[in-house]
Amino acid sequence: MARVRTRHTEPEMQLRRALWRVGLRYRLHGALPGCPDVVFNRARVAVFVDGCFWHGCPQHGGVPRTNTVFWRRKIGVNTNRDRRVDGELVSLGWRVIRVWEHSVENTPDRVADRIARIVRSPIVAPGPVRRI
Ligand SMILES: [Zn+2]
Repeated sequence: MARVRTRHTEPEMQLRRALWRVGLRYRLHGALPGCPDVVFNRARVAVFVDGCFWHGCPQHGGVPRTNTVFWRRKIGVNTNRDRRVDGELVSLGWRVIRVWEHSVENTPDRVADRIARIVRSPIVAPGPVRRI
């Protein structure tokens, strides 16, 4: 199946710039389940920037009026895969952060601050999956 997650999207670049501003240094596209967009190896934090349409954002993830069944199924497949990837990462000891595209676009610095707090907090346990 064709991959939905494209690389170096504008929201992803926006997030990377914001992370840089708060002093976080990261790796890109770690070789981990789901290919996270941004990875903090030492902190064991994996970050995904989820497109509102493809990942079914409750605010902006409306299904198109044509081919509704097709799109609903397609987005359902994506969100199921997201949950499976989250589970795999947590079982490997990672903390997962999923950031909505709209959060990055609206408040990139706030998103970066929240990520910074998590990255700089001690690892108590893997997970939970956080949604920003
Ligand atoms: Zn959204």
